Amino acid sequence: MKDSETSQQKSAPGLPVLDASSALLTSCVHCGFCLEVCPTYQQSGDENNSPRGRLRLWRQEAQGRLEPDWWTVQYTQECVGCLACEPACPAKVPYGEILEEVRHQHVQQGRHLPPLPLRLAAWLAARPGWFSFVALPVRMLRRVGILPHRLLFAGQPAVVETTAAYAARLMARHRPTGPRVALLTGCLMEAVFREINFATVRVLIRNNVQVVVPEQQGCCGAMHEHLGLSSVQQLREVNRQVFLAADVDAVVANSSGCGLSTMKTLGGRLPVRDVLDFLGEIGVQANSPQPAKSRVYVDLPCHLVHGQKLPGIPQSVLDATGYHWELAPQARDCCGSGGVYNLQQPENAQQILKHKSQFLNTAEGDPVILATSNHVCMMQWQSAGRCGLVQRSYQVRHVIQLLDTGEVT
Ligand code: SF4
Ligand code: SF4
Repeated sequence: MKDSETSQQKSAPGLPVLDASSALLTSCVHCGFCLEVCPTYQQSGDENNSPRGRLRLWRQEAQGRLEPDWWTVQYTQECVGCLACEPACPAKVPYGEILEEVRHQHVQQGRHLPPLPLRLAAWLAARPGWFSFVALPVRMLRRVGILPHRLLFAGQPAVVETTAAYAARLMARHRPTGPRVALLTGCLMEAVFREINFATVRVLIRNNVQVVVPEQQGCCGAMHEHLGLSSVQQLREVNRQVFLAADVDAVVANSSGCGLSTMKTLGGRLPVRDVLDFLGEIGVQANSPQPAKSRVYVDLPCHLVHGQKLPGIPQSVLDATGYHWELAPQARDCCGSGGVYNLQQPENAQQILKHKSQFLNTAEGDPVILATSNHVCMMQWQSAGRCGLVQRSYQVRHVIQLLDTGEVT
């Protein structure tokens, strides 16, 4: 069987067909503008570990000029999926779309099998009730400050109450009258980092936003997409139906990766908004000034600025936190989290983080707070201390937590 035929037969519904005639694979004009923004090329200096190199490998395989090769899979796996190459590309090569399909093909064709623990995690993520139940001890440990993994950061998640129940309780008490939004709660976020969802509900209600949390929603599929698993399409279909039936003005996401995946899910039929961008648009209540010595360093998730193509987190929102803040050095560069990249390629992920995190060792502030808007990036930043890249104490927070005064109860 020809390689191109294999590609056509194995393409998942909703994903592009990549074959010898695919315009997607031939759209690269080899200019190399993407090389300097690619973290894996910058780390390795290896052309095959760059967007241009990967595209060439995929194209040559699809055209039958290169035998299906272990190295092609390896270079595909080494891509963080940060999408920094997309805005840098004058030919507008849809790299992320192509990457998603190639990862899917590699799994379908048996050329790559994600590690068993990650396949188990993906299985759990697709079953939010089970995931929440299994992660209950983790929520309890986080509450008492025991962090059994380098990627876990401190927090106070509710152990039993869900975000849906919490939002319904607060909505009944405060009865906001503004725009009506559905909150995407996420799988890992709800199971482990639930306190960020709770803070999001409080901040939205404090700003007169009606918050609906559909209990039937599931995982957005971002993790399954990273792993190349075809179950991503079923997960997206569930959420597509749930959110379209929710009778809301928009879906809001407090994780940029989950937000990007949900944008693909809804395909423009219902606005999907990053919660901080949404708050910036409607105008957010400002907090009282925070202690003068504290400093917040803001890092921008790749899937916010390259994936969702937002310019960043609105300045009005960051000002409203009441903190002295500034953008972290290289704030638009990848931190190496990449969904599950920091579990699949931990050494690469740490090397990428090493450059970005060094400033924390000498950063001014008491406390020093690293703030971002994606829980997976928060995990990666947390690991900088646990892995010895940063040798002083610092806090990792979501920007929505800095906006949360706790006044709404
Ligand atoms: S997605 Fe990121 S790591 Fe992958 S090729 Fe593009 S810039 Fe490089
Ligand atoms: S910037 Fe775009 S067109 Fe240029 S080499 Fe990179 S992917 Fe190809």
